[in-house]
Amino acid sequence: MLSFFKKIINKTQSVKPQDAGDSLEIEKKTGLEPVIYTRSEHNISRNQISSNALKVLYRLKNEGYEAYLVGGCVRDLLLGREPKDFDVATNATPEQVKQAFRNCRLIGRRFRLAHVFFGREIIEVATFRGSSENVSDLQKVDQDGRLLHDNYYGTIDQDVIRRDFTVNALYYNIKDFSIVDYVGGMHDHRAGVMRLIGDPETRYREDPVRMIRLVRFAVKLGFSINAECEKPIFQLADLLANIPVARLQDETLKLFLSGYAVETFEMLRHYGLFAHLYPVAEKSLSSEESGFPKLFIIKALENTDKRIAEGKSIAPFFLISAFLWDAVKTQANLNVAQGLPESVAFQQAASQVISLQVKSTAFPKHIGVAMREVWGLQARFQSRNGARAYRLLGHPKFRAAYDFLLLQAETGGADPELAAWWTEFQVASEAGKKKLLASLTKSSPRKRRRRRKPAENKKQND
Ligand code: ATP
Ligand code: MG
Repeated sequence: MLSFFKKIINKTQSVKPQDAGDSLEIEKKTGLEPVIYTRSEHNISRNQISSNALKVLYRLKNEGYEAYLVGGCVRDLLLGREPKDFDVATNATPEQVKQAFRNCRLIGRRFRLAHVFFGREIIEVATFRGSSENVSDLQKVDQDGRLLHDNYYGTIDQDVIRRDFTVNALYYNIKDFSIVDYVGGMHDHRAGVMRLIGDPETRYREDPVRMIRLVRFAVKLGFSINAECEKPIFQLADLLANIPVARLQDETLKLFLSGYAVETFEMLRHYGLFAHLYPVAEKSLSSEESGFPKLFIIKALENTDKRIAEGKSIAPFFLISAFLWDAVKTQANLNVAQGLPESVAFQQAASQVISLQVKSTAFPKHIGVAMREVWGLQARFQSRNGARAYRLLGHPKFRAAYDFLLLQAETGGADPELAAWWTEFQVASEAGKKKLLASLTKSSPRKRRRRRKPAENKKQND
């Protein structure tokens, strides 16, 4: 939530007032009366709410403010899932929140948010954002209808219509433990439907990232997508090109780390969204031959989902390196054809592909470094003689590179025997390792070339 607010208000492009049609739509919405679901009409119990979030809610209430849980945590609690974090919305200003808590820090320059710290847990407290009056002044949009900033305080009924989906716009009121629903969110929740608040096209234009969020939530929650909300995506997917790459970074990483990466990938491609996030990969996919590289990418996605299901950690660079692998190989071949030596051609290809990719979705430098390592190590798996094999085993990225090799072997991109050899080698005892290396020298066609080495060394030593 923080990143959304922070990033959306940092835009400085030229502004054009929103047209009258849009503002009418918004004014009409704010006139809505909420439906209140009393404690007995919903399943959220206080036992499921973080005790720190409860402390914040009660403190605000006792100070005389309105205080609600809002957004993803309410949505997840209704589904009986454990929320990732708890966000609070209030009518107290950030300064008032700060006064109420010693362990509080204000963040964000233009739209200020309060972070209340409890050890490692942070409860984010946002003041209701306003929007209904003088929409054209308050919600500036660019020529595509994109919101440029969004930083005025308001009331709960104004706050609600700026949220993205109805199921993300339910408020849990600490005063009486009821759920306050202005937008039919409870109904959609029960029906399992993702629906944007307001006119879908306008809302996508205001913030095209909502198209990606729609896919993420639909897949993660197993919800269907309302037909009216689905239609405009095919035409509007291009608007993602206007989103600053750094903003896309957070949302894209979340996309594939929710445990449903395969489904997410398929749905993003269906709507033409994937092409905007990973154009390099989309190009490889559209030129695919006999299921490759799609098979490889799908395997990498399946592998990610499996690891998440097993509670294992996930390194974001791994998937991205799988997305881009085919392009790196193709580019390396082109570079070789232009006369570059193989290893230089490969290094350059890696740089070329990475710099193309970061034009669409940025990632931190360390991710690029890790990807290059994993790619580079693929060639080193081939040369296994003696010390080299041991050195490779000790490489910090050995594990990831080995997983990458396995995926390749499973999908026809690498020799399965090579992968099997490394599988054995890494777990073998010292004696077993020696035996594996010896078996290699016996059968390796490079035996003769390697034999020359001691003589060469001898010469150097002489
Ligand atoms: P997650 O479980 O992934 O954190 P979430 O719904 O909490 O899901 P956040 O990105 O943390 O997602 O955002 C919190 C809330 O802020 C959302 O539930 C929604 O109400 C609002 N929000 C976030 N991003 C947008 C956006 N792009 N447009 C409108 N509202 C948004
Ligand atoms: Mg959240």
